Amino acid sequence: MSTLVDGIAELVTNDATCGPGPLGVILDAALVIQDGHVAWVGRAADAPAADERTDLGGRAVIPGFVDSHAHLVFAGDRAAEFEARMSGQPYDGGGITSTVRATRAATDQELRSGLVRLVAEMRAQGTTTVEVKSGYGLTVADEERALRIAAEVTPETTYLGAHVVPIEYVGRAGEYVALVTGEMLQACAPHARWIDVFCEPASAHAFDADAARAVLEAGARAGLGLRVHANQLSLGPGVQLAVELGAASADHCTYLGDADVDALAAGSTVATLLPSIEFSTRSPYPDARRLLAAGVTVALATDCNPGSGYSSSMPFCLALAVREMGMTPAEALWAGTLGGARALRRDDVGQLRVGARADLAVLDAPSYRHLAYRPGVPLARTLEV
Ligand SMILES: [Zn+2]
Repeated sequence: MSTLVDGIAELVTNDATCGPGPLGVILDAALVIQDGHVAWVGRAADAPAADERTDLGGRAVIPGFVDSHAHLVFAGDRAAEFEARMSGQPYDGGGITSTVRATRAATDQELRSGLVRLVAEMRAQGTTTVEVKSGYGLTVADEERALRIAAEVTPETTYLGAHVVPIEYVGRAGEYVALVTGEMLQACAPHARWIDVFCEPASAHAFDADAARAVLEAGARAGLGLRVHANQLSLGPGVQLAVELGAASADHCTYLGDADVDALAAGSTVATLLPSIEFSTRSPYPDARRLLAAGVTVALATDCNPGSGYSSSMPFCLALAVREMGMTPAEALWAGTLGGARALRRDDVGQLRVGARADLAVLDAPSYRHLAYRPGVPLARTLEV
């Protein structure tokens, strides 16, 4: 069965062959959807017939957001920690321990219902692809369980046993890395597409360059793709390690030296910026303009998690990126859609060309520009065809 979607005032395809790039915008547009994929795209006046028709009444349509960085399998929340931060306490990653305690104590069903609730919250704001990390279990059984549950909602699952050194391993980080790269990896790899590590020598809770390299190389040997939490709290080795090892993405990139920017520009690693974290930790925002000027591929994602930033909203991220990080509305939208797809090495999402998945988000607005222009207004939703 085919469906014609028309009444589209402005269609963002992210296909520069369709219209002015890089967004490939078509005005007065239509799409034909067949079997969950885009079968035709162009001007409404040229649209072919289809079995059914959906008229969007002059709204804008964009590719569904690709949120390439989220932590959604956990129990409890840390609202009190947020309040303390807003009262002047700095963020150092240490609060993760309290979420680990609550997550270990939760039942499978409690973790599953929290995950499903957050994914639904994301879909209601236009997100159609989401990556989900483990990292709040930090035992073999609890990490395996987090990934098994995450795989019920997305193929983009990431093993993050190396999120922090758990409290029972304080002073024995080497032993914990051996577990993460050994028995825990064996248990988790069947449920994961990716491996990730919080490389942050400046944090007492995270991992230095040698440990991060060991984690990533072990993951690669197990057939997992690589991602890195890099340069969030200070200048450090994470970004250059990510590029050297061919990671799909270096995430955060809050503190970047010239050598980091040069490495990203020369390599194939996407720089994934997470402005909701700077917002929620009162850290300085990264300069996206500097990365774009150097030719780096930039993605935007929420990093939705109960500690450092608990927003599930990609439109909020786009608005912050435009207001605080020097991106244009078009650059921010591209980064939150096709940029996210690049960060996940996917070519079937983040764009609306013929053959791509029909993951559409519709805006209660005539143009994508309203996403950043009207921050905090619930304009975006996914469209089920
Ligand atoms: Zn994260």
